[in-house]
Amino acid sequence: METAVFRLEGVTKRYGDLVALDNATMEAGSNEYISFLGPSGSGKTTLLRVIAGFEAPETGRVIFEGRDITNLPAHERGIGFVFQNFALFPHLSVIANVGFGLRYGKSPQPEAEIDRRAHEMIDLVGLKGLEDRGVDQISGGQRQRVALARTLAMQPRLVLLDEPLGALDANLRGRMRTELRAIRERLGVTFLHVTGSENEALAMGDRVVVLDRGRIIQTGRATEIYDSPNSPDVAHFLNRFNLFDGTFRAGYFEGPFGRIPAPGARRADRDVYAIRYDRMRAVAPGSAVQGPALKATWIASEYLGSAIVNFFETDGGRVVEMEQHLSLGAPQTFEPRQDCLLTWNPEQAIVFGREAA
Ligand code: ADP
Ligand code: MG
Repeated sequence: METAVFRLEGVTKRYGDLVALDNATMEAGSNEYISFLGPSGSGKTTLLRVIAGFEAPETGRVIFEGRDITNLPAHERGIGFVFQNFALFPHLSVIANVGFGLRYGKSPQPEAEIDRRAHEMIDLVGLKGLEDRGVDQISGGQRQRVALARTLAMQPRLVLLDEPLGALDANLRGRMRTELRAIRERLGVTFLHVTGSENEALAMGDRVVVLDRGRIIQTGRATEIYDSPNSPDVAHFLNRFNLFDGTFRAGYFEGPFGRIPAPGARRADRDVYAIRYDRMRAVAPGSAVQGPALKATWIASEYLGSAIVNFFETDGGRVVEMEQHLSLGAPQTFEPRQDCLLTWNPEQAIVFGREAA
């Protein structure tokens, strides 16, 4: 990576007995977009609050632009943030909200400059024409953009976003993603973006940081994380893999689909077989398949626009998902409770084993 603009070094944050952040270390380059992915309670908000300066860590340091800011008050850090429950000033117009920090902040700007920058930011987030509206007279998605514009107007070099798109409907969320990407390219700002959505994390981030119970368990480019999760937990959080328990021994994995070769297994703290939803195939029962064969009955399907997901239930009562991209041709159709055999190319599986090299 190019020079790090921002670094966390061994940061631990406790609330009583609970370790919300456990020795977290990471860095971000200038103009980098980093997504944080992790289940609820994994410490994502705490991490951003420590960086913003709203929480003091018990141990570790926060370095920003070469300076140790661990003990610097939040308002002196020059870090922008948009949290999920962003608060706008309800009695002020859009433009007054966007210009608020420039007018009343640490270094107040001349009126003409406030006006110029506020207009520029409003334009940037696509709210031109709404400058004089009250913020109670615009939609939730538009309010979200006002919050973003208000933050960006302060020209921070680092922007923290805590699930800012969570409250938006899918359509608006998609548009905001595109806008965030464009903004980042125009302004050259580093973004740290917390999202509960694995799709958003993979789509937005140059790099993805995966959190679990306060620990950073994997960091990498989105494609690396997706193609190569380093543990069963990461594979689970990506929400794109069927995960099977079983036994890995001497290069083979024995699971509900039989005993199959598992070359290239990765060492982990438990034996888990992971196969992506879009790698599964369903064939008629009794078909001759080489490799894995998992008996299952079809229970439901879900149309996703560009793909269809079929849900199957195994004899053991497990739900297994199979995703078919519609660009690959007409999808298979199934009858309720239709019996099938699920199979896949074992070379496409990711196998975790205690005995793996
Ligand atoms: P996330 O944003 O990933 O959902 P949080 O960072 O909000 O997770 O929380 C991490 C853990 O710390 C959770 O178990 C949460 O209950 C706890 N926690 C967060 N804030 C506080 C607080 N102010 N007091 C006590 N516990 C807290
Ligand atoms: Mg949170």
